[in-house]
Amino acid sequence: MLIVQPEGPDDVARTLDFVRTQGVDVAVRCGGHDLLGVSTPARGVLIDLSRMNDVVLDPVAGVARVGGGARAGALTAAGAPHGLAPALGMNPNVGVGGLTLGGGMGWLAGTHGATVDNLLAVDVVTADGRSLKASADENEDLFWALRGGGGNFGVATAFTYRMRPVPQVLAGDIGYRTDPARFLRFLRDFLATSPDELELGVLFSLGSNPFAITRLCWSGDAAAGAAALRPLRTFASPMLDTVRPQSYAGFANGAAHFDNMFLRGGEFAGLGDEVIDALAAIIERGGPKDCLVGVLHYMHGALCRVPADATPFIRTPGHILYNIVAPWQGAGLQRDRMDWALAASEALRGVNSKGIYINYLSYEGEAHVRDSFGPHHARLRAIKRRYDPENLFHHNRNIRA
Ligand SMILES: Cc1cc2nc3c(=O)[nH]c(=O)nc-3n(C[C@H](O)[C@H](O)[C@H](O)COP(=O)(O)OP(=O)(O)OC[C@H]3O[C@@H](n4cnc5c(N)ncnc54)[C@H](O)[C@@H]3O)c2cc1C
Repeated sequence: MLIVQPEGPDDVARTLDFVRTQGVDVAVRCGGHDLLGVSTPARGVLIDLSRMNDVVLDPVAGVARVGGGARAGALTAAGAPHGLAPALGMNPNVGVGGLTLGGGMGWLAGTHGATVDNLLAVDVVTADGRSLKASADENEDLFWALRGGGGNFGVATAFTYRMRPVPQVLAGDIGYRTDPARFLRFLRDFLATSPDELELGVLFSLGSNPFAITRLCWSGDAAAGAAALRPLRTFASPMLDTVRPQSYAGFANGAAHFDNMFLRGGEFAGLGDEVIDALAAIIERGGPKDCLVGVLHYMHGALCRVPADATPFIRTPGHILYNIVAPWQGAGLQRDRMDWALAASEALRGVNSKGIYINYLSYEGEAHVRDSFGPHHARLRAIKRRYDPENLFHHNRNIRA
């Protein structure tokens, strides 16, 4: 494999020219967090955008322009001195590229929507080497497709985002040992009435009496937040409670880091009894040390208030996503952890919703991609025909022209 590290759009265009004339495969990588690893193929040319990671913030306008190879945490850190935050994901190491092009859900989704709802413009180099601007006023069809259609339409060399005033949040972790099914039933009722300001993710350790850690962020009035969180604090007696007022960046960029994380994910149409039983069985069966089952990204609030055809990213109120997490430190593959995650993902196959958020879609095959885009798939195909008819960009959740 040939790895190219461009420093700007011209380098990207030259690389694509080489790829076209040599007839070789090309993949595009930003943060390298693709769940199926498709941004790092075994052969061909890899466009590694990690050098294109500039962050230019205009704090007065509340707008930031970010290189297509930057990580989420860099923009969060840049906004912090100005009390501004980007609506990116829950993990600072994830690349803005994959996150944004797939939709993007994070700690501010309930109050400020998806990442793509806060995207103002994208600079793109298309398959034929043209440098284009996509925004609400220029190349509108491309702009629509880039807000959830994944890496199918070109190389995004820069993203322009609206930043949000979020100086402080009430955030941290609450943890206790609990029966997983009982806690998930409580969570179902708790989330059904949760205000826009609350985002959370629950991570269960494995075993018959697992530890459940709820990592949460309340981005509103602190007193109202303390009242809203009371049921979480009284469900069981917390053995861990780090929830406190703090800066958004202090919380969002403080996530635990592992050298390796093998992740599988998917989407449920809510926490129905069948889903809860399937999750509880995986948790209670146990598995390799440090592996976790996560339930996160409850779809609600501002995320779900955009018109259904505004972007290709489908959000359905009440849907919730999950992660099967196999982390480890140090070099090398840890097969037992990866096999456990693959088996857990297979065990959940039948209880996923029909369409799965493409950034968590962990099952191979075109039919899943079609389901993920649902009614938008035909329009995405038409735009693909216009910008990448030869399917040069296919190392992704692929849409064929
Ligand atoms: C630990 C972890 C935490 C996560 N947390 C969240 C979360 O909180 N919220 C959420 O919504 N998702 C989350 N995700 C999913 C994440 O959004 C996707 O995996 C995303 O694709 C990762 O983006 P990346 O740039 O790091 O990945 P990469 O592997 O670099 O890229 C993935 C794909 O995106 C495309 N791509 C990336 N950058 C560009 C670009 N500049 N131009 C054109 N195409 C590009 C390519 O097709 C590439 O194959 C998480 C994933 C992991 C592993």
